[in-house]
Amino acid sequence: MTKRLNKLAIPYLINFIYTDPLLILHPMLKIAYSPIYIYELPDGHRFPMEKYELIPAQLLHEGTVSQENFFHPTALNDEEILLTHTAEYLDKLKTQNLSRKEIRAIGFPMSSKLIERGRYIANGTLQCARYAIKHGVAMNIAGGTHHSFADHGEGFCIYNDIAIASNILLKEGVFNKILIVDLDVHQGNGTAKIFEIEPRVFTFSMHGAKNYPVRKEQSDLDIGLADHTKDELYLSTLKDTLPNLIEQVKPQMVFYLSGVDILETDKLGRLSVSIEGCKERDRFVMQTCQDLNLPLCISMGGGYSPAIRHIVEAHANTFRLANDIFF
Ligand SMILES: [Zn+2]
Repeated sequence: MTKRLNKLAIPYLINFIYTDPLLILHPMLKIAYSPIYIYELPDGHRFPMEKYELIPAQLLHEGTVSQENFFHPTALNDEEILLTHTAEYLDKLKTQNLSRKEIRAIGFPMSSKLIERGRYIANGTLQCARYAIKHGVAMNIAGGTHHSFADHGEGFCIYNDIAIASNILLKEGVFNKILIVDLDVHQGNGTAKIFEIEPRVFTFSMHGAKNYPVRKEQSDLDIGLADHTKDELYLSTLKDTLPNLIEQVKPQMVFYLSGVDILETDKLGRLSVSIEGCKERDRFVMQTCQDLNLPLCISMGGGYSPAIRHIVEAHANTFRLANDIFF
């Protein structure tokens, strides 16, 4: 049985997270995390920000990882962001000139700290992608900001971390074929739009057909699931799709968005996947990539179960599996 975390232990454990570049040489699960990920929200805000603190603390507490697994990402610079986002949007973010409507669409109270935080999280995904090339897999405690478009943000997403990382790797010539597997319950609309005419990036989104966003974009492959879809259909759909897709697309790298808002306990998700089903989903994606020696970079995505323990447990499973399968 998994050990539960005593809340008082959290600040103590978090203080031990540090970066040591020498450890890069030793294969291990590298995890992007920084205290800047935790952005203070007004009481009652529906985004469970505390998960960014609780997940690393839980993983340390139970011994799944130790401090050396974590690294603090640095911040992206403008040039790197501009490979994906428009100059106008970046300028509006930097000068805090988004309209009220644009701010409402994002859903977080705006501040320079929030804009800055996004640069660290998105670079966390890029740096994880680089670790994944060396170690097989790497994971960002946050990220999966797939509702961010080139010229605007929405649904708690400001910069599109996976799109930014993909565009940088493509520009550097590291890869010329990337597959994005987006299994968050919400369609990866921003990602789909950004790569609409980019043949080197294949976007696959499996999501709730009736869920947000109401107006879906067109991914290279979309699978819309009916409300209340349960484990059996969810998993058989994934297992019938992913291996064939990899065979057809022949990617050199996979980005996986492992949102846990597919859970039956989720208040926004509309699906009925159990925590075991969610774990089996993650296991299947990871095992498939590992069997094929495909570098795998994982961003967490959403999770809105009313009890934070369900969110933390489901996300923690993704990290536990990565450790078991790859190391
Ligand atoms: Zn979501």
